[in-house]
Amino acid sequence: MRARNWLGWVAAMVEDCIFCRIVAGEIPAHVVDEDERTLTFMDIAPATRGHALVIPRQHAADLWEIEQDELLAVSAAAHRQALRVRDRLEADGVNLINSCRPAGWQTVFHFHVHVIPRYDGDPLKLPWVPAPGDMQEIAAVAQALR
Ligand code: AMP
Ligand code: ZN
Repeated sequence: MRARNWLGWVAAMVEDCIFCRIVAGEIPAHVVDEDERTLTFMDIAPATRGHALVIPRQHAADLWEIEQDELLAVSAAAHRQALRVRDRLEADGVNLINSCRPAGWQTVFHFHVHVIPRYDGDPLKLPWVPAPGDMQEIAAVAQALR
């Protein structure tokens, strides 16, 4: 067992962190990309079609807490995902967003980068107001991204 995963599971137990629980497989998610350090899965309240979150497997609360090599791994995964939404979903653009602390709109305190595909003329205004997504549509778009 690698130390990183062990720490993540401890964090999930101690902090009851929902994203650590996704990493641990305790909560289902539509995973579209993963590597040794990161996981990318669909946001359940998507701002646009194909909205995904990239997280480190190792728990870090936010941008002020994450270690630099973990941030680099997340950045590389977010870049992969940005290319994927261009190629698979024919996105016309993309927003990468990180929210740090409540003052910066953060609501889930496990570091994550939003990869939000943008489409010419889409109505999205930032910050968006999350609303539950259509789970069938989210599953279908996850399939298109794998
Ligand atoms: P933030 O407000 O920047 O911290 O973003 C948190 C994001 O996590 C929101 O866009 C939520 O819709 C998303 N989210 C919360 N719980 C889950 C979950 N179980 N699976 C996928 N996305 C989630
Ligand atoms: Zn966590």
